[in-house]
Amino acid sequence: MLSTYFFLLLLATLAAAADLYKVLGLHKSASDKDIRHAYKKLSKKYHPDKNKEPGAEEKFVEIAQAYEVLSDPTKRQIYDQYGEEGLKAHEGGQHHANPFDMFQSFFGGGFQRQTRRGPSSVSEFEVQLADVYTGASIDFMVKKRILCDHCRGSGAASDGDIHTCTTCGGSGVRLVKQQIFPGMFAQSQATCGDCGGHGKVIKRKCPHCGGQKVVDHTAHFTLEVTPGMPEGHEVVFEGEADESPDWEAGDVVLRVRTRKDKGGWRRKESSLYWKETIGIEEALLGFERNLTHLDGHIVGLVRTGVTQPGFVQTIKGEGMPIFGREAFGDLFVEYNVVLPIEISSETRRKLAEAFQTSRSSHDEL
Ligand SMILES: [Zn+2]
Ligand SMILES: [Zn+2]
Repeated sequence: MLSTYFFLLLLATLAAAADLYKVLGLHKSASDKDIRHAYKKLSKKYHPDKNKEPGAEEKFVEIAQAYEVLSDPTKRQIYDQYGEEGLKAHEGGQHHANPFDMFQSFFGGGFQRQTRRGPSSVSEFEVQLADVYTGASIDFMVKKRILCDHCRGSGAASDGDIHTCTTCGGSGVRLVKQQIFPGMFAQSQATCGDCGGHGKVIKRKCPHCGGQKVVDHTAHFTLEVTPGMPEGHEVVFEGEADESPDWEAGDVVLRVRTRKDKGGWRRKESSLYWKETIGIEEALLGFERNLTHLDGHIVGLVRTGVTQPGFVQTIKGEGMPIFGREAFGDLFVEYNVVLPIEISSETRRKLAEAFQTSRSSHDEL
């Protein structure tokens, strides 16, 4: 394990030129909180205990190194001013922290310790069929609770306002003595009522959140609809659900659904369905029509000869994009034939003549 680690470290150092901010997906102006947040998210994502994809471990080491520098104000300043070279000169060949130890100290025990997870929110999200056809970025807002940044989730006006509960001595529990028979007692534990089991009481509440520890917040997100996204596909915004000091925030999950298309298009997986209405003359003699597709491009509908009512024409490659592939499904056009409400006597005479002729020519055969 140790040797692999050093080997990887070497690899990562050789490939080091990558911008440390980019490694964490951040801009140079990122706040300490942004840096912590990015490290928290990415180090979990690429931790080799969890992520078995090739390259995950290298990425994990890279993330740890970026965090090590950017979370240290002195190192960050040197890096901002003099870059990678300046940092090397400053460290003078000093060893990097072990990325796994760093992860452990950040999360307090890595994956072994069960951090309580807050509830995830799952909601249905309707998108236009045209957006699923072309792909789209859709902005939306979510109301959620975030940790109060004034008290950083403690609920107290200042750190000096947090005191150990005197009732339970900080244990959060209280021993309750109950008399069962005269002279016989049973002891049981109960949650301390004065501190609610937290072991701490707050003298002065935080004025910003009123001691609630969290505040309401409207968060903005962008849903990336990829072309051909399957019906009911779930897009996960990791760790973006309600925050609380008691848990690690759950996820916001969107289940993407297609809104019923008013234009008459229907989709089933990678197939598209369209109903086209034609006249009797077109049904008998053939026709050329233009169908405007979901993204506005024109599909030529061409029929020579007779088209029966209900006939379905298959047009290859004009269906929905196939999710994750550079290919398209097929389009199925069903033809409806409408008859005129009435016909002029002239038309009637000609038709009679035409049908008569065809019938007699038939008879001759
Ligand atoms: Zn207490
Ligand atoms: Zn507060």
